[in-house]
Amino acid sequence: MIHRILFGLVALLALASTPAVALDVVATSPSMGALVEAVAGSRAKLTVLAGQNQDLHTLQAKPTMMHALRGADLVVAIGAELEVGWLPVAIQGAANPKILPGTNGYFEAAAQVPLLDAGAAADRAMGDVHPVGNPHVNTDPVRMATIARALADRLALIDSAGASQYRRGADAFAAEVDRRVQRWRGQLSGAPGVVLYHRDAVYLLDRFGVPLLGIIESIPGVPPTGRQISTLTSELKGRSGIIIHAPYQSPKAPKSLAGSLGWRVVQLPMEPPEGADGDGYLSHIGRWVDTIAGAR
Ligand SMILES: [Zn+2]
Repeated sequence: MIHRILFGLVALLALASTPAVALDVVATSPSMGALVEAVAGSRAKLTVLAGQNQDLHTLQAKPTMMHALRGADLVVAIGAELEVGWLPVAIQGAANPKILPGTNGYFEAAAQVPLLDAGAAADRAMGDVHPVGNPHVNTDPVRMATIARALADRLALIDSAGASQYRRGADAFAAEVDRRVQRWRGQLSGAPGVVLYHRDAVYLLDRFGVPLLGIIESIPGVPPTGRQISTLTSELKGRSGIIIHAPYQSPKAPKSLAGSLGWRVVQLPMEPPEGADGDGYLSHIGRWVDTIAGAR
């Protein structure tokens, strides 16, 4: 009897000393996972569906995704139709009413902030495939701070006992964003500009006033023709800049453009490493900043 009571006490003490995992959260990408880590920390058991170098535009729904979503209390997506080719299918397959779009268990980052390229049909010529607006908000650290606060509010709706922890996490992340953005502004002032493969890092360039000098793909998913590359070359000849593309975008056209302009071409991931927290996300943005600042 006494043993049983002692055992019960020890178990209670163990519960009190380890932070309680209150929620099962599924993030679509490492940047969304990093936000969950920053805001919820140990209160969330986190699963991230896509790897760092997977193209979120073309990912396919998999049984492992459905399995992860089946027990989830919340799904955190980038949104604005970026994951439209696979996330709705995975959610449907999971048959979990808690995370259906429109419920508290479904959160889209892009729905929390103003979007670039919204309703700009004319921008299709510049490589826009995103009719509801450009979804790549995770490339802007300032929007990510706003999204972190909205995520804290959403988490508090589902788990009110954790509300103050979520608010502290979002505040700390936003304060760190402020600090780094100050420094990055200085680092990027006067940067000559960037050619991107797709309109993905446009939020980062826009945030810091870095000129977007061109987009390599004119139709997303279709490799650019030689004629398109020579048009870009003649537009940019004699100027300085840098070409940046993601690992899942073909290096062929970027290399040929770089060769004819005498520019550097750099491959950079769109997402932080898997398992990144708020700091890991900001280090990833720091890599982009260092690369762009180093172009002059
Ligand atoms: Zn895109």
